[in-house]
Amino acid sequence: MSARLLLGEPVAEKVRQRIGDLVTQLATEHVTPKLAVIVATDNQATNWYVSSIARAATKLAVACEVLDLGEATAETLAETIKTLNADEQIHGIILQTPLPQGIDASSLVKLIDPAKDIDGANPVSLGQLSVGQEAFAPATARSVIEILEHYRIPLAGKHVAVIGRSTVVGKPLAQLLLQLDATVTICHSRTVNLAEHTSRAEVCVVAAGQPHLLTANEVAAHSVVIDVGTHVTESGGLTGDVQADSVQPLVSALSPVPGGVGTVTTALLLLHTVQAAVNFLERSRRGECQMSVGR
Ligand code: NAP
Repeated sequence: MSARLLLGEPVAEKVRQRIGDLVTQLATEHVTPKLAVIVATDNQATNWYVSSIARAATKLAVACEVLDLGEATAETLAETIKTLNADEQIHGIILQTPLPQGIDASSLVKLIDPAKDIDGANPVSLGQLSVGQEAFAPATARSVIEILEHYRIPLAGKHVAVIGRSTVVGKPLAQLLLQLDATVTICHSRTVNLAEHTSRAEVCVVAAGQPHLLTANEVAAHSVVIDVGTHVTESGGLTGDVQADSVQPLVSALSPVPGGVGTVTTALLLLHTVQAAVNFLERSRRGECQMSVGR
């Protein structure tokens, strides 16, 4: 047996179609959705990632402004976030990490207006998710759900093991899975006997940041495995947290790296931006905020 591959591209394509529909609707109201990405690093990988978001945005008629602030201070970053919060032409804000040394990202993401927090970075967004209120989840966590739903993997009543409890992936993903009635086990670096948990799971999502952590010894036969990890190999390729060669013959489906979750993430960031613009339009219709024409 060889696992069915749960590829990200068809999922991303469906997300792009949803974006196209919403952008067309917004255009009739003279609204152009706009994302602002704050960058304060000369890290090459980060700059490549941000350029790829900007390129994807352009293709989908979503405006994207990259604010390259160099070695900015915490004060400058805070002021920039506040200015973007107040700018009604901006619908989504991303504070890209890493930040200059000594700057605490967690104190800055708190400043992002939750209505514009399209990558679910503000703890308020995670809090809203945990109590079942509408909020933007981090795009990576949402990508996992989009993949599972696209390939019609049932979640209600299923045992899902999530390896990783970061605020970017593991914790918000666990909340999204709970909302879909899965029974969720969250594992982390202090979990004793990881295999005991993962080998009972019908779905296992690995977001540990440890190359090839999950092997055939830790998975149940016929289960579904989603690999979130991304690591650059010595040869410049990408690999994940799952030892794909050993796991693939055993499981029923695998979302691989590369070609899986990462492929969907950028499209979802843009979908969230467009949804934020739609939400803004609806709030302005209800008179909850003002909107100028021609935005
Ligand atoms: P992170 O903040 O470093 O968190 C890693 C989590 O995994 C922590 O909760 C950690 O436990 C747990 N962990 C580490 N080693 C473990 C082990 N041996 N056994 C069980 N749990 C272990 O990483 P992250 O930001 O969540 O990212 C996770 C992975 O996803 C990384 O490879 C990252 O590159 C990738 N990623 C991909 C995308 C995408 O779009 N494709 C986006 C974001 C991240 P403790 O809490 O106990 O330390």
